Amino acid sequence: MNIETQKNWTPDDSAELYRIRDWGSEYFDLNERGEITVTAKFPSSQVTVSLMDIVSGIRQRGLPLPAILRIENLLDAQIVRLNEAFVRAISAAGYQGAYRGVFPIKVNQQAQVIEEVAEFGARYKHGLEAGSKAELIIALSTLKADGRLIICNGYKDEEFIDLGLRAQRLGYNCVFVIETLTELPIVIERSKALGIKPMIGVRVKLSSKVSGLWNATSGDRSIFGLTTNQLVQVLDMLKEHQMLDCLQLLHYHLGSQIPNIREIRNGVMEACRYYVNLVEEGAAMGYLDLGGGLAVDYTGASINQEHSRNYSLDEYCADIVEVVMATLDAHEIAHPNIVTESGRATVAYSSVLLFDILDVTTFEPAPLPEALPENTDDLILNLREVLNTISPKNLQECYNDALYYRDEIGELFKRGQITLRDRSLAENLFLEVLQRIRAQLDLADRIPPELEGLREYLADIYYGNFSVFQSLPDIWAIDQVFPVVPIHRHDEEPTRDAILADITCDCDGKIDRFIDVHETRRTLPLHPLKADEDYVMGVFLVGAYQETLGDLHNLLGDTAVASVRINEDGTFDVIKELEGDSIADVLSYVEYQPQALYEAFRTTAERAVREGKITAAERRDVVKSFYESLHGYTYYEN
Ligand SMILES: *Cc1c(COP(=O)(O)O)cnc(C)c1O
Repeated sequence: MNIETQKNWTPDDSAELYRIRDWGSEYFDLNERGEITVTAKFPSSQVTVSLMDIVSGIRQRGLPLPAILRIENLLDAQIVRLNEAFVRAISAAGYQGAYRGVFPIKVNQQAQVIEEVAEFGARYKHGLEAGSKAELIIALSTLKADGRLIICNGYKDEEFIDLGLRAQRLGYNCVFVIETLTELPIVIERSKALGIKPMIGVRVKLSSKVSGLWNATSGDRSIFGLTTNQLVQVLDMLKEHQMLDCLQLLHYHLGSQIPNIREIRNGVMEACRYYVNLVEEGAAMGYLDLGGGLAVDYTGASINQEHSRNYSLDEYCADIVEVVMATLDAHEIAHPNIVTESGRATVAYSSVLLFDILDVTTFEPAPLPEALPENTDDLILNLREVLNTISPKNLQECYNDALYYRDEIGELFKRGQITLRDRSLAENLFLEVLQRIRAQLDLADRIPPELEGLREYLADIYYGNFSVFQSLPDIWAIDQVFPVVPIHRHDEEPTRDAILADITCDCDGKIDRFIDVHETRRTLPLHPLKADEDYVMGVFLVGAYQETLGDLHNLLGDTAVASVRINEDGTFDVIKELEGDSIADVLSYVEYQPQALYEAFRTTAERAVREGKITAAERRDVVKSFYESLHGYTYYEN
């Protein structure tokens, strides 16, 4: 690395390169030491803390990396942003209804997250959305029967409905959203049997379709929601039982991460038509629930692209309020309370996955010898000759030649005509050719298509102490991208081009798509490792969906979790620390009995003593190693 570039590089250059101020949403930035910071707002001040300080704080408390860092202030801040944005839009438009947000539990079911939503959402009457019995149990035990909405989606059996109805008596507002025709007779029967009037909602299938990665929930073939035909049957059934006054809510959900505001508007417009008709049919109504879909700008590009969005939060709220108002005013129908079920946008910012880099593989050639041995094969000499001819004008030609010679040399090796050392020399020459071609790519008039992937082919592999499958499942499952950035050293120029590999032994266990302005990029600029210093990476905006979708590939378990709260005086408290899974934990998930494993190993070791293979003292040591591993972290420990 050239000393001069290093000196000129500033944190501002890094902020631009990694687009931190674009996706950071005023929460994440860099300080003058080149460390990523997080900012928490207070009524009359704001406080900025370095993530490196938080990392050393949690390490001092004995929590290892990898770990998920949850910053409670950011969850609070997002609940405030969402509610305040609706309050502004409602008051600016003179809208007569209120906003009643609910948090969908499935987006992050962790107890601390739900407790925080419940506590902090109280002042906005922010409720919860439950999609299963287990989630209803969470909602009922976390909210305090203070009239906040509990929207019950998903398939509901008698037990689910009985619990929700009985909870109604305690002061909870459980709304049963009818998703299938079979649910309604159960709700009617059980509410009559228990003598409790239910709050009923209907979920409709909109024909508006949305783009993005999660669009399967929209359109006529969506597996969720009632068709118009089924909706008419619901109305008739309720009418027959004189229960139209129980039908209070219309619900739809177009899918998550909707990048285009026009599609959101179209959905609201279509839903309003349903709402008008339900009112005209005599239903009580009062709530219009637009589901989730509010997108997170993972790339910070503010465009209509799957990892971004072409609208701001204020625009989202204003558009919804405006469309609802315009449609209903035309029919002189009272403005409903607006419900949204924003999960992703509420919780994504508050979690960061932190891990360190264990090792790096580069594709640099080893130093080449000054002179080649006398009897060197002609093909190898030819390959070396290519080195001397590279110029910006003949990059493709040199590439073709080098490839040809390398393959021919490989054939010679297969036939036993050259040695391992010859072949290794040839591989080095080949890498040297590729590196020199890459260095000249920027000087060429145009990059030949075949060479476009060269940068990626030569990229370093940084091995991170984490599992994509456990901690970032959407990267593997649906090619999601998240901002991936070292959390320090931003006062130095990152001179390496890299991809990241995890410690599973799976070739899918990698991150090789990164955020960029338009399309994604295939490599990430990183700093060379230093011998005496950890290199700590952060994967940002991972609070939504990642934690419980993760699996136990290679039996790498849950990571440790540290929840911190930043205080107004600039300090922070570690509110909660959760140790990650131990090896015994993950083995018991797959039905092993750790104690039995330990005993079996002790017996084997005892037999070895009896057979004279080891001494009794050696047995003690090996049994101790086994025990410590069994109770240790599933990740690399140092
Ligand atoms: C998953 C889901 C949500 C959450 O959507 P986000 O895009 O994360 O806000 C809301 N409602 C329903 C019915 C869902 O299934």
